[in-house]
Amino acid sequence: MYDLIIIGAGPAGITASIYAARKRMNFLVITGNIGGQTLWTTNIENYTGYQFITGAELVQKFIEQLEQSRVQLKQGEKVISIKKEGETLKVTTDKAAYEARAVVIASGKVPRKLGVPGEEEYRNKGVAYCAACDAPLFSGMEVAVAGGGNSALDATLQLMNIASHISLIDASPRFKADPVMIEKIEASGKVTVYHAASIERIHGDTFMQGLTVRQSGKAFELPVKGLFVEIGYVPASDFKSDVALNEYGEILVNCNSETSVPGVFAAGDVTDVSAKQIIVACGEGAKATIAAFSYLERHKQEAL
Ligand SMILES: Cc1cc2nc3c(=O)[nH]c(=O)nc-3n(C[C@H](O)[C@H](O)[C@H](O)COP(=O)(O)OP(=O)(O)OC[C@H]3O[C@@H](n4cnc5c(N)ncnc54)[C@H](O)[C@@H]3O)c2cc1C
Repeated sequence: MYDLIIIGAGPAGITASIYAARKRMNFLVITGNIGGQTLWTTNIENYTGYQFITGAELVQKFIEQLEQSRVQLKQGEKVISIKKEGETLKVTTDKAAYEARAVVIASGKVPRKLGVPGEEEYRNKGVAYCAACDAPLFSGMEVAVAGGGNSALDATLQLMNIASHISLIDASPRFKADPVMIEKIEASGKVTVYHAASIERIHGDTFMQGLTVRQSGKAFELPVKGLFVEIGYVPASDFKSDVALNEYGEILVNCNSETSVPGVFAAGDVTDVSAKQIIVACGEGAKATIAAFSYLERHKQEAL
């Protein structure tokens, strides 16, 4: 039985862990990866103390601080449910089950999926969600990007120096992105834009070999070897639990990081707190552990 289980090791979960270590709590961190979305961030210019730092460098600094704090970590596990049984919180992952008196959920956000046939089958076999991480794998190949906002256009700009040709498939009739990006893409001569178009299917053999696209009622094939899905992010709150969510799937928290379930706290991008930023997630992670610590202290005193 742990005092505290922290779910996630992005900026919110890492900061929550550092605070738990300093308070000498008996705690465990369960996470998919270390770094969260910061792993996919190229340049950071708004994290106090650093005028400029890359996402990879900041994650390395996070890891060093976690190591100094000797944090117990279960990496590569996905939490699938959080259940309250009496005063105990049971956290079940795809590999094991754990128990604690308090939980901090800091599971952040994950890329939104297209939800079309072939997407799961060809994930990491052509289908990618992070241009900063995976673009170099597609050197000299024809690829497609799904989306029409800043992230999709940013991914296209990154791919322009790597891929031989890019098909940009936008569901909207016009881009919702910064004009400077649109101008660069239009001037490149390397990008074909399909507005008001949708991807119907991703197909291939061992690896992805193409897409079926529909535009103006007509379906056609694009023989691309890669697809970058850049259609936004959704809160990673798809585990079973009784915590209340808003209409966007974000966990509702009050100003003390408390959720609707006593003993369960939440922090960072997975919550309804505005401003999804690294520095905000760090601050919220610290607040959540401080609140969990006070909750446990109160319960100890009540039990005496
Ligand atoms: C491309 C990009 C660029 C950005 N640039 C900036 C920037 O320049 N400046 C800035 O301030 N912000 C930037 N952001 C936003 C910033 O990265 C996020 O606000 C921040 O990472 C949120 O931190 P978090 O800890 O709440 O969540 P995340 O970083 O999303 O971390 C979530 C963690 O939870 C884990 N997890 C998720 N679900 C589960 C589960 N079921 N079980 C176990 N573990 C789970 C994940 O593995 C991960 O470790 C950027 C984001 C993106 C995508």
